[in-house]
Amino acid sequence: MIFESMSQAIASMQMLQRFYSVIRIKDTGSAEILYDSDNSDMTHKNPVSFTGQYNAALTISKNDHSIILTTTIPVSIGGRSCYLELIQRAVNDNEVNQSTSIKQKNIIHHMRKLAITDSLTNLYNRRYIYEQLPIDLAWAFQNDNPVSVIYADIDYFKEINDKYGHIVGDYMLKEVADVLHQQVQKKDGWAARYGGDEFLICLPSINKTTAARIANRIRKAVEVKQFIIDSNLLKMTCSFGVQTIYKRNGVNTVDKVIELVDCKLYQAKNKGRNRVVV
Ligand code: GH3
Ligand code: MG
Repeated sequence: MIFESMSQAIASMQMLQRFYSVIRIKDTGSAEILYDSDNSDMTHKNPVSFTGQYNAALTISKNDHSIILTTTIPVSIGGRSCYLELIQRAVNDNEVNQSTSIKQKNIIHHMRKLAITDSLTNLYNRRYIYEQLPIDLAWAFQNDNPVSVIYADIDYFKEINDKYGHIVGDYMLKEVADVLHQQVQKKDGWAARYGGDEFLICLPSINKTTAARIANRIRKAVEVKQFIIDSNLLKMTCSFGVQTIYKRNGVNTVDKVIELVDCKLYQAKNKGRNRVVV
């Protein structure tokens, strides 16, 4: 293929532009790039059509995400020996589909996390309790293990809200949640905010003695926290009910579990608060 000048060659490339990702003209001897469509604006050129037969070499290569097809055609431009590279990129569909499905999975995972997380405390929420607790009960009972449940409620929380405002109240709720995040190890179970100032901790396969020990550990960790609010030293306590359920008790609904454990919490409140009733 023969072009009288570089500008004529470049003008001709305009016609090919829509078929190829990149078009380059290189010097045959030095491989110097004389033209690169990625770095050129050809729209002002007048297209020149070219016809005829010519020899072309085809190279196929692959990088991370695409297959690259390069057609190399020898050309003469103003007597200079050059070659034309017509480059097509085909995106690797498998990898695109794979990365799309990874993105979709991440979105689903994120949405699922949002659906089961309490936004204030970052603990699990009530929806999670109603989903997970029956599963934990069934699984534990199938293996003849008990499930222990701790129900915690902040003492005199209304007073904190009334005296210091809801923002301070929210801050206190987060502080209790932090204690639960620290004290309830993943291997033992999970902690959720049931609602308001009430928290539920589920401990599958953990017996009464260990559950009482965990409840007391949480109680002490809350008790020792100190807060300076409006130059006042503020402290906080929680009361706890602990119920250990076995298969033979015939308990398999969340409402029944809450009823039992709330009864223990009520006793803890009646006995003077800041205590654990098992
Ligand atoms: P008790 O020792 O008997 O538990 O007394 P209490 O004052 O803690 O009583 P109760 O548990 O019934 O009070 C719960 C309060 O929690 C009432 C409500 O105003 C407050 N509350 C519920 N949800 C939120 C919240 O998201 N943020 C804040 N700041 N307060 C909340
Ligand atoms: Mg309370």
